[in-house]
Amino acid sequence: MPIDSRKLAEELQKAKFKGESAAEVLKRLAQKTEPPKKESVPAVAPVAGNKEGEPIPQGFINKAKTFTEAMLSRGLNNNKASDQTYSLRVLSCHGDNNGLSPCPKRMDSNKFPGSHYCGACGCGDKPLTQLTPFKNGDKMTEYTKLNYPKVTCPLEMPGFSNYKSSGENAKTANDRKLYIEVRHGVEDIKSKSNPS
Ligand code: SF4
Repeated sequence: MPIDSRKLAEELQKAKFKGESAAEVLKRLAQKTEPPKKESVPAVAPVAGNKEGEPIPQGFINKAKTFTEAMLSRGLNNNKASDQTYSLRVLSCHGDNNGLSPCPKRMDSNKFPGSHYCGACGCGDKPLTQLTPFKNGDKMTEYTKLNYPKVTCPLEMPGFSNYKSSGENAKTANDRKLYIEVRHGVEDIKSKSNPS
């Protein structure tokens, strides 16, 4: 039974003052047990946990389907995701300089120094898979995988079209996702991840 997103967000807020990690909150809600009584202020935010999540397997058919959907959404006019959606994707892949580390699946590109690609989606290190603006020959390419109106993430992270909250899919739940959910709110993330 999925955990209610609103309840999860509330519990994560409270957990910051009870010394519980995000992973512990998730487990407690799933098992319907009581929170710890003793209140203490933790030194760090819930992102301190180390649950990385399990990427959803990217079979050949699934890869072909999501690639086609991404290309169609880009269209001939280089359509782009909104700035808000893009910002959430940047957080999901690259983290921030304020406590959120880059995704452990993010790989440094060998072909385009300074850029990155997703090591979990199985598409490899190619011009169309870069997560950062990159130099291709003499030309700077600004349109990256994070700009496509429709694009998926193997960890179903915030900002991506297949986003699932931590309460909806325990397999892909991870501490980085919980960290973003606590700060932005699940409902807000949902509306920006797959806008209609
Ligand atoms: S697409 Fe998803 S799994 Fe891949 S690097 Fe970005 S956040 Fe991580």
